[in-house]
Amino acid sequence: MQITKLFGYLLISSFILIGCSDDDDTPVTNTLQANNKKPLGSSANDLLSATNFNSLTIEIIAVQGFEPTSQAIQGFREFLQDRLFKPDGITITQRSIPSSGKAPFSIEEIVEIENTTRTLFNKEDDITVYVYFADGSKENDTNEQVTLGSAYLNTSMVIYEGTLRALSTRPNSPSLSTVETATLNHEFSHLMGLVNLGTPLQSEHEDPDASNHCNVSSCLMEAAIEFGSGMMGMGNVIPELDAQCIADLQANGGR
Ligand SMILES: [Zn+2]
Ligand SMILES: [Zn+2]
Repeated sequence: MQITKLFGYLLISSFILIGCSDDDDTPVTNTLQANNKKPLGSSANDLLSATNFNSLTIEIIAVQGFEPTSQAIQGFREFLQDRLFKPDGITITQRSIPSSGKAPFSIEEIVEIENTTRTLFNKEDDITVYVYFADGSKENDTNEQVTLGSAYLNTSMVIYEGTLRALSTRPNSPSLSTVETATLNHEFSHLMGLVNLGTPLQSEHEDPDASNHCNVSSCLMEAAIEFGSGMMGMGNVIPELDAQCIADLQANGGR
């Protein structure tokens, strides 16, 4: 009698357990997502080379009314094609969502938004990157210095599109698409491990006054590019990586 009871109990337990794993894939999903929740710069080689990933998918999620210009997406795509070995191609997806209402943003708030909006994660030999176009600024911006974008995890970055749009209405400022392209390229370069952020230095060009940035004047990875000040007064020109930054990327598997 006791054995029968026990047997019945075990059967029910098994059924419930199986039911749980079928209906609720959270544990499995978390394991898969863990590869996209690592420290900034730790996937530099995976992004640059085709060793582990033959293709790249960028998931751009923008707040409605704060979508990037099509010229910026085209410029960003060309920048990626010039630097990455992805023989199966680079795909950029775009989707608009309502405002979170949380501007100005801390990085913790951006991480929360990513957790509820990101849908694409590394799968087989496709590596994925999340880009959020926020309807506002980073918290703690000042009149003297505003932040245009932040890279914050190995495959995650945010563009403060509200700030970019405000900047582009100022006199003598570069066009919105120029600032967008420069910011996308700069933040993605941090994901590629620049400067000394997962991609080893091949020469001494890290700015001693701004860690993980380049000391070459007018290089894309100058710290000033991340802030509004660096984009003003440089004309309608998208800054490029200098030879030392490119040499670092090539030594870590890049083009
Ligand atoms: Zn930077
Ligand atoms: Zn540089």
